[in-house]
Amino acid sequence: MKETDVGVVGLGAMGLPMARNLILKGFSVTVFDIREAPLKILEPLGARVAHSPKEVAAASSIVLTSLPSSKHVEDVVMGEDGLINGMARGGVIVDTSTIDPAVSRKLAEECRKKGITMIDAPVSGGTVGAEKGTLSIMVGGDKKDVDRCMNVLRAIGVNVYHVGDSGAGQLFKLINNMLVGINLVGVSEAFVLARKAGIDLRLLHSVIKTSAGTSWALEQKLPKMASNDFDPGFRVWLQHKDLALAMSLASQMGAALPMTALAFQMYESAKAMGLQDLDHSAIVKVLQKLSGVESS
Ligand code: NAD
Repeated sequence: MKETDVGVVGLGAMGLPMARNLILKGFSVTVFDIREAPLKILEPLGARVAHSPKEVAAASSIVLTSLPSSKHVEDVVMGEDGLINGMARGGVIVDTSTIDPAVSRKLAEECRKKGITMIDAPVSGGTVGAEKGTLSIMVGGDKKDVDRCMNVLRAIGVNVYHVGDSGAGQLFKLINNMLVGINLVGVSEAFVLARKAGIDLRLLHSVIKTSAGTSWALEQKLPKMASNDFDPGFRVWLQHKDLALAMSLASQMGAALPMTALAFQMYESAKAMGLQDLDHSAIVKVLQKLSGVESS
């Protein structure tokens, strides 16, 4: 097997464009997802379709995973048909999902017992970054393993940061996503106040974009809120999951995070309102409801 034999398991909003970029950059790519739709897109582009994570692992030196949550990653890595039961000694699993750092460390340890390496490499930059291959990647693991995966990581991202040992990538990513969650609630409040004050939202976007109140959340998501476009993207329930992980981490560390707690409660409300599968910017709908602001 060659280092260019790469697998991808989990072909959703992020995994599908990552796999496409790997194919375009000349890797020999084997893929698996429990849904058929992404397999039908990737096969004509040259991907080999496997029937389980185990089969992907057997055909690959390096396997990327892009799965919703800790439980999904545990199943895909450790299950009977999982990666750990198909991969040859010396293989590497690169988990790009955002999950509990403790689970990352535990899985890396289980893999190590079988002569397999697992590094955590959660990504940031959204579906646009995944499509353009410009993601930021926060990697936790041994330097030699990270260096070995660098060609694969550079095929999906531009900024690759080796931030520490196993689990460290997840810690950085949770802090990033905690800020995204808080910022989106802030942008939603700006939206509601602007609507109440009769301000033109396009003009507001142009002005704040170059002022101190700007953020990725404002630049990317205020226009979507203004046009009532909540196609995902990064879904409400995934943002909720990451805020829950940040809260749990904070509790373990004895850190008080009042703004994160509030953002978490707002996302809890969004889920209770049935918004879980919309883009995370749909948090504005909760704020709209509180202030009686109709959708445009
Ligand atoms: P998604 O739900 O769109 O994709 C997940 C994919 O995993 C789906 O295609 C699903 O069918 C597949 N899957 C689930 N269980 C499986 C299994 N047992 N075997 C094989 N495939 C399985 O989610 P996403 O938005 O692509 O996010 C993936 C991960 O990346 C999450 O951890 C998320 O937090 C993180 N992330 C997402 C974004 C974003 O903008 N969407 C950005 C950065 C990080």
